Amino acid sequence: MKHNPILEDLALFGGPKSIPVELDRYNPIGIEETEAVLKIVESGVLSRFLGTWDVDFYGGEKVQEFERACENYFGVKHAITVNSWTSGLIAAVGALGIEPGDEVIVSPWTMCASATAILHWNAIPVFADIEADTFCLDPVSVEKNITEYTRAIMAVDIFGHSVNIDALREIADRHNLKIICDTAQSPGAMVNGKHAGTLADIGGYSLNYHKHIHTGEGGIIVTDDDELAERMQLIRNHAEAVVAGKGVVNLVNMIGYNFRLGEIECAIGLEQLKKLDGLVQSRQKAAERLSQGLKSLEGLRLPIVKENNTHVYYIYPIILEIEKLGVSREKILTALEAEGVSGLAAGYVNLHLLPMYQHKIAYGSQGFPWTSEICKRDIDYKKGICPVAEELQEKSFLGFQMCLHDLSDQDVDLIVQAFCKVWNNLDKIK
Ligand SMILES: *Cc1c(COP(=O)(O)O)cnc(C)c1O
Repeated sequence: MKHNPILEDLALFGGPKSIPVELDRYNPIGIEETEAVLKIVESGVLSRFLGTWDVDFYGGEKVQEFERACENYFGVKHAITVNSWTSGLIAAVGALGIEPGDEVIVSPWTMCASATAILHWNAIPVFADIEADTFCLDPVSVEKNITEYTRAIMAVDIFGHSVNIDALREIADRHNLKIICDTAQSPGAMVNGKHAGTLADIGGYSLNYHKHIHTGEGGIIVTDDDELAERMQLIRNHAEAVVAGKGVVNLVNMIGYNFRLGEIECAIGLEQLKKLDGLVQSRQKAAERLSQGLKSLEGLRLPIVKENNTHVYYIYPIILEIEKLGVSREKILTALEAEGVSGLAAGYVNLHLLPMYQHKIAYGSQGFPWTSEICKRDIDYKKGICPVAEELQEKSFLGFQMCLHDLSDQDVDLIVQAFCKVWNNLDKIK
């Protein structure tokens, strides 16, 4: 057979790149958003929130229109917009009535805010391990980490797939715990015919620039519980100044913030929500084509979708079987990047290993809350507490960001071509 450099010669060693040009950037914003924003700007009313008990306590027209549209889309009783999902997570933990020193179990494989939202109420994050197929909290590990001080589980629907919510619910009910679900990366993912995030006591989604749909910054909290909804609306908007006027009697954690989202963002959000299904379908189509192209490669474990679930592929998760491949992840990554594949990352994160937890220094210099009397026991954040997450992080996990580029069939085929070339040359990069 004739020698074909583009298919055979590694770019790492001077051969031609599989992907010679930068792929188009993923951009869900279009003319619809531009027009919606113009109308708001022309009206001059960019926000209509008032931080007192008043008709404007719930925000302006677009805030409320977007919230009703989210309730309809996600199938929930209450949707509450916030200026970021980080704010949403803080409001959610506060609304549950978490006390200083209470423990909340959280995944180490998530964005840092899932755990800091717990610390913001002077409560204690306890890290449980993850499953090696969904990368979400492992219910068995969650149960092992429950103590008499545990009050809630902060579950995370990471990368586009739901956590095993049925198993968590069963555990939570048995131990009288609440569940918050951080579904920032998985809007539109389904579990048991419902939207991921809506089966927890409180769930929610990020509208940050990097996510499937965005409003620049923003977030949506969802819940079916009337009281929790009211408490989160209060925390969003200066609770302490509103409770008396509104006749609220439960003052626990009624310390308010300004977590309000503006009219411009909500006008964009309304247009983005209409596009979510189509955008998710395009991620799913690209992921399926990628899996089809990569499935014959030895030593690669491709993403799975559990029964009664869908995956929305914020990240396309791959596990490298390093022993079988005989090449380190870093060498494979370097070779793939040389081929022009961008958006790959070795590992994800292990929150418990961040300096804040390793040194137990958060509020002030004296180790609060861990060294204070509100913390009832010595909390272990040492390396080794989450062996599955740690192994994936150190050795075998390779993530591909699906919301970085607008992936056409042809783009996906070029990515597959790059993987095949590297796989055919593994002996050369050892
Ligand atoms: C993006 C993200 C957040 C934070 O959302 P923001 O809107 O950026 O504050 C929280 N958790 C996870 C898993 C995320 O991916």
